[in-house]
Amino acid sequence: MVKISGKSVFGGVSIGKLLFYQRKEKVIKRIHVDNVDDEWNRFQSAKNTAVSQLKGLYEKALNDVGEANAMIFEIHQMMLEDLDYLESIENIIRTQEVNAEYAVATTADNFAKMFAAMDDAYMQGRAADVKDVSERVLDILCGVSGGMKEMDEPCIIAADDLAPSETVQLDKSKVLGFATMYGSSNSHTAILARTMNIPAVIGLGEALRQEYDGKDAVIDGFTGTLYIEPDEETLKEMQEKRAKDLEQKALLETLKGKENVTKSGQKINVYANIGNVSDLGAVLKNDAGGIGLFRSEFLYLENTDFPTEEQQFSVYRQVAESMAGKKVIIRTLDIGADKQVDYFGLDKEENPALGYRAIRICLTRPEIFKTQLRALYRAAMFGNISIMFPMIISVKEVLKIKEIIAEVKAELKEEGIPYKEDVELGIMIETPAAVMVSRELAKEVDFFSVGTNDLTQYTLAIDRQNSKLDEFYDPHHPAVLSMIKMAAENAHAEGAWIGICGELGADLELTEEFLKMGLDELSVSPSMVLPLRKRIRECE
Ligand code: PEP
Ligand code: MG
Repeated sequence: MVKISGKSVFGGVSIGKLLFYQRKEKVIKRIHVDNVDDEWNRFQSAKNTAVSQLKGLYEKALNDVGEANAMIFEIHQMMLEDLDYLESIENIIRTQEVNAEYAVATTADNFAKMFAAMDDAYMQGRAADVKDVSERVLDILCGVSGGMKEMDEPCIIAADDLAPSETVQLDKSKVLGFATMYGSSNSHTAILARTMNIPAVIGLGEALRQEYDGKDAVIDGFTGTLYIEPDEETLKEMQEKRAKDLEQKALLETLKGKENVTKSGQKINVYANIGNVSDLGAVLKNDAGGIGLFRSEFLYLENTDFPTEEQQFSVYRQVAESMAGKKVIIRTLDIGADKQVDYFGLDKEENPALGYRAIRICLTRPEIFKTQLRALYRAAMFGNISIMFPMIISVKEVLKIKEIIAEVKAELKEEGIPYKEDVELGIMIETPAAVMVSRELAKEVDFFSVGTNDLTQYTLAIDRQNSKLDEFYDPHHPAVLSMIKMAAENAHAEGAWIGICGELGADLELTEEFLKMGLDELSVSPSMVLPLRKRIRECE
C-alpha cells in the first residue's frame, strides 16, 4: 500500500480504480517557412476552429456546472482574440519566418511566465489558462486530439493538474473523485469537485506516479489522503468511513424543513453565503432560510470591465426571485486587498489589507458605487433584498452612504425607473473600530453582520492570507469573541439585529456560545446549513 498526503478540497470517501488523465504528446519543432502569409492564415484558421470549439464547451459547461463556472470558456475565447497575444504570434511568424506551431508555443510560454510572475494570485492563475487555450490551438495545428480514455466504470481521476476545458469534458457520472499533483483550492478542479459534491485531494506532488494508473485506490477527502492498493485493514476502515459519511448525509436530509431551534425553544436564522448565481442550487438544496451574504464582488472579478447596471440588475433580480421572498443580503463590492481587478486601475500598495478597499473605494469613486446601488434598489422590487456595506469603521461613513443612497433614489425617481423605497440596510462588523462604536452605528442601520474572517485578522494583527501564520490565526481568541459579544449587546440595545457571516459562524464548537450571546442569524456555506441546524437542535 502507498499512502500519499495532499490537501483536501472536498470531504467524503471514494473507492475505485485510479485512471490517469492522458494527454497526447506533441513535439513542437521550429521549422523555417517560405510563405509567412500562408502560415499566418493557417494560424488564423486554427484559431477560429478553437474559438468555435470553446463556444461548444461553454454550452456544455453551462448545462453541467452553471454559468459562473462556464464563464472560463468565454474568457478563453477572449484570450484567443487578445491583441497582444495575436501580435506576438504574428510577429514571430513574420520576423523569424517560422511555423505557426512554434510561434504559438513560444508566445504561450512567454505569456504564461509573465502571468506567473505577477503578484496577484488571480493573475497567476491565468498562466494555466493561456497554456490551456494555446494547447487547443496547437492540437488543431498538429492534427491531434487530447483527451481521456473511455471509462467503462466510474473511476478516480488522477492528473498532474486538470485544465478547466479538460475537467468539463469528463463524463461526470463516471467520476468518483479527483486526485491531482498540483493545483490550488481555487482551481477549477477544486471548484468543480465542490459543485459536484465529490471527494477530491490536490497537491499530492510527485508521489502521485503514472505507474499507479489502473490500480485500486481510495481517496479520504476528509484528511486529504490518497491510498494506492490499500491493504485490507485500510480498505475496511475506509469503507466504514464512507458508510458513516453517507449515513450522516442521509441523516442531515431528514433535517430539511425543520426549524433551527434549541431544546429550550430559542430560535436562530440559518442563512447561506454565496458568491455566484450558480450557488443558488446549493442554497435551496440545503434548505437555507435565506442568503446572509452575497459577495457581489465576484461579479466584478469575473468581468473584464465594470459590470453595467443592467448586468447587475439582472443578477440581483434573479437571486431575489429564486429565493422567493426569503431574505437576500447583498454586500456591496468588497474589491481590494486579496480581491484585485485590473480595470479598477488600483495602485500597488505596501499594505493592501489596510489599504484602499471595499467601502473606501465606493465612497471615493461614487460613480461605481451608484451604478451598483441603482441596480440593487431596482432589483429590490423583485424579492426581499437587504443591502450590506463592508469594512465600515465610522458613523461618518454610514451617513455618507445614506446621502449617496438618497441621491440614487432621487435620480431613479426623476427618470421614472421603478425602485423599492425602503430597503433594509446593514453593515459588516469586521474592524475593531466598528465594534468600539457599534452602539452609535446601531442607531443608523437595521442590522449588523460580523465578518469574523477580517475581524480576526484586524483584531489579532494577523494577515489572513499568510499560511505561515495559520498557527497564530485563532478566531477563538477571547478578544475576537468579546468583540462579537459587545457588538451583539450594542445592536440589540438599539433595536438592530445581528448575525455572523464569517467562517466562524459555521464553527460548531461555538454554536452554543453564539446562541448565548443572542445572535439572531448565522450565515454559512450551503453545505454547512444542515450540520449547523443539527447542532442548534442539540443545544439546550
Ligand atoms: C469576513 O471578513 O468575515 C467576510 C465574511 O468577508 P470576506 O471573507 O469576503 O472578506
Ligand atoms: Mg471581510
